[in-house]
Amino acid sequence: MRTEDVQVQAQVRVRVPAKVNAGLAVGGARPDGFHDLANVFLAVGLYDEVTATAGAAGEGPVITCEGPDAAQVPLDASNLAARAALALAERHGVPADVRLHIAKDIPVAGGMAGGSADGAAALLACDTLWGLQTPRDELLAICADLGSDVPFSLLGGAALGTGRGERLTALPVGGAFHWVFAVAHEGLSTPRVFQEFDRLTAGTAVPEPAAAPALLSALRDGDAALLAAALANDLQPAALSLRPSLAETLAAGMEAGALASLVSGSGPTTAFLAKDAQTAHQVAQALQDSGTCRTTRVTTSPARGAVVVEDIRA
Ligand code: ATP
Repeated sequence: MRTEDVQVQAQVRVRVPAKVNAGLAVGGARPDGFHDLANVFLAVGLYDEVTATAGAAGEGPVITCEGPDAAQVPLDASNLAARAALALAERHGVPADVRLHIAKDIPVAGGMAGGSADGAAALLACDTLWGLQTPRDELLAICADLGSDVPFSLLGGAALGTGRGERLTALPVGGAFHWVFAVAHEGLSTPRVFQEFDRLTAGTAVPEPAAAPALLSALRDGDAALLAAALANDLQPAALSLRPSLAETLAAGMEAGALASLVSGSGPTTAFLAKDAQTAHQVAQALQDSGTCRTTRVTTSPARGAVVVEDIRA
């Protein structure tokens, strides 16, 4: 075979991190049903990978998925990766014929923005595969249209999200933090958790959401003990109300030596901050032994946002 007969299939692979909310302040329901948020996002080292290859003419985006939670991931047009490809194609007037394979390691419906991560990754993968070179601020605007958590998945690191959480200001982080995540047996629906928040706060004056200065300085200084004292999640009572057994998971991690525990975003994944890697592994083992969760993951933050890790173009 002559070398010019070898057809290399163009392929772009993007790696994208999960997030934990180091602070999630939630305002009262707005007339449009959304809530104003002051959302301190921190990207953590659990990743999905989205690989884009050219599709057949006219077929549109085709989604496939592998991983322990793959059966729970929709493969139709509702998948955020498919919606991202369609949004980008429409903006540039190009066909959205692309195959998107998701290697899923981020827990599904776990409050770690897994779907949002795939949306951001697919956007970057398609932009690269199609050679569009869309400016970064335009990519971020498409992300914001796709969902409140999607822009942060592209950005990574740490950021304060205001509005619905989609208006981002990058935050400095002075060092690595060690985390354990306890993945629950079953997911929780984010809209359901917000409904429960509305029910629990009905008739009370919900303050304007704001990021705590102590949280921002703990991140800036890379100080785990100060961060532990400042972690806060206004959705935690709602998640615990819907899933009371999460209290046992939170207690098991604290007993094992975590500096702090909290529900990640809308849950049901719980997050534990540890003083170092060794303690993080101890906490993970104790959580596993407690039988109060499906599995545990040990990792660090901050992590980079969506990034092209393989780019083979013919
Ligand atoms: P968030 O933290 O942003 O509130 P989450 O991490 O709790 O989200 P996801 O894993 O994003 O939850 O899944 C929520 C729902 O989104 C799923 O139940 C699924 O129906 C839908 N979904 C759409 N696209 C995806 C995707 N690529 N991966 C996972 N779920 C997806």
